[in-house]
Amino acid sequence: MEIIKTVEDLVARREELEGVYQTIGFVPTMGALHKGHISLVEKSVKESDYTIVSVFVNPKQFNEQSDFDNYPVNYSSDLKLLEYSGCDMVFMPKSDDIYSDYDGFEIDFGGLDKVYEGEFRPGHFQGVVDVVYRLFDLVKPQKSYFGQKDFQQLAIIKRLVSEANLKIEIVSCPIVREDSGLAMSSRNERLSNENRLVASEIYREMQVVATEMKIGDSTSLFAERFNSRMEKIDVMKPEYCIFCHPDSLQKIKKVEKNTVLVMCVAVLCTNVRLIDNIILVF
Ligand code: AMP
Repeated sequence: MEIIKTVEDLVARREELEGVYQTIGFVPTMGALHKGHISLVEKSVKESDYTIVSVFVNPKQFNEQSDFDNYPVNYSSDLKLLEYSGCDMVFMPKSDDIYSDYDGFEIDFGGLDKVYEGEFRPGHFQGVVDVVYRLFDLVKPQKSYFGQKDFQQLAIIKRLVSEANLKIEIVSCPIVREDSGLAMSSRNERLSNENRLVASEIYREMQVVATEMKIGDSTSLFAERFNSRMEKIDVMKPEYCIFCHPDSLQKIKKVEKNTVLVMCVAVLCTNVRLIDNIILVF
């Protein structure tokens, strides 16, 4: 596995790869890798001729300095996991290198950046677009892999690709969960063992909704119930629970026949912010 640490080396190496491999698969990550990330890498290895993974904690997408400062970093474990997964190249740049002579990339978000996560994390999605556009431009992949765990991010990346007219296929990958049901996340490392178990209540409650919600139901009642169940747990504080259209992210108030909707939630467990979602088909 090649390890590339500078933009200059990446550009040079990418030129050498041109014409040698038809399909370059790319998985952008912020490191502290777990099985969720690795599932994306394995899919790319399976579907592409050459897989590049970036490990870069992007300062621009953190709206709180403390969240950035506390973001877990574990390069040696990341490299072992990547080597084992069949990744061909890891790109681990420094922030100055990524953002020298590059201020960012503007798109018309069509409002996708203002709702849900955007409301609670102002500027977050602009930071995501800035880094992903830059990485796409450097890596020049044919395919790029993203997790459904970050559902709104996935919708925004698809919009970026269409707005910027990029010839990149965005492949969405299912959420990988811990045995308890808790969606895997680098942030889970900041939870105590006890709170990690408590946090699995998020998915349990979402499953209750998946079982009970029927055509004709009003979604707001389910959102209220989810929030109040979370509030009853000492260490938990719900931020939002919404039911929306999978592409437009528009809120859906009533469950209609033959529709797909996504239940997206964000909950604080102590000071750790957790997000999750499930797709509901009627
Ligand atoms: P991050 O390092 O958090 O920026 O995540 C990098 C990529 O891994 C994103 O596309 C995430 O959606 C994806 N990802 C993170 N956690 C999971 C998970 N539990 N299951 C599937 N994909 C995930």
